[in-house]
Amino acid sequence: MTESTYGKTLQKSISISSIITAFHCPRQYMFYKGNEGKPAFRYSICKLVSCAEKNADEEGLWSTVCVIHPDISEEYRTLLHDCLNAMRHTPVRPWTETDIPVRSHAAGIHGLLDKYDASSGAYTITRCTTAPKNGCWPEDAVRAAALLLCIEETTSKKPTGFSIEYIPSGIIRWYEPTPKDRRKVFHLIRQIREIEKGSIPCKPMCPPCARCQFTSRCESGAPQRLSFLFKKGE
Ligand code: SF4
Repeated sequence: MTESTYGKTLQKSISISSIITAFHCPRQYMFYKGNEGKPAFRYSICKLVSCAEKNADEEGLWSTVCVIHPDISEEYRTLLHDCLNAMRHTPVRPWTETDIPVRSHAAGIHGLLDKYDASSGAYTITRCTTAPKNGCWPEDAVRAAALLLCIEETTSKKPTGFSIEYIPSGIIRWYEPTPKDRRKVFHLIRQIREIEKGSIPCKPMCPPCARCQFTSRCESGAPQRLSFLFKKGE
């Protein structure tokens, strides 16, 4: 989507999680479409820790996790334990609302904001990954830019950035989305719209194929190479 198409409102809204999938690889987005997402055990655990009282009891939190995800395996308890330890000395980001649906009609996107604190007007993104050495991960920069587009349209209190809490590391970073991040969001929206119309996206320059579950489908679904269009011997 170029800035010139910004403002078209009649198209199906795209979730910010789809934008992030397309950010990793637009082909992955194409293959994920229609597939059931896996239960987000890691995210649920990190979210609970993020919203828990200081010095929350591990046993009580684990019981809540088991109610939310009755099929979760016991091995995830280690993650809960490690996250609680990591956050032990980190001031929890304040919040008065959590999991707030946000939407930009103009951009045609929607998502969930992790935390909003009415008293300070602060916005927080909760991540279940470890923190990078500096700043935030590139996908979180895109996530922040997409959320900012939505919040700018939803509320009168316009933030300049977000606190991003990396729960497994117990680290909180401040990030202000840049024009480059916003351009990336528009580019990904345009790519997703093309895929929805039936286009097969090209492989990106550095696709994360080593960690991809779609490698065989990706190879068989690759667009024909020019050489295939000519019969042998002609
Ligand atoms: S195999 Fe590689 S190019 Fe294909 S969908 Fe997966 S990450 Fe993308």
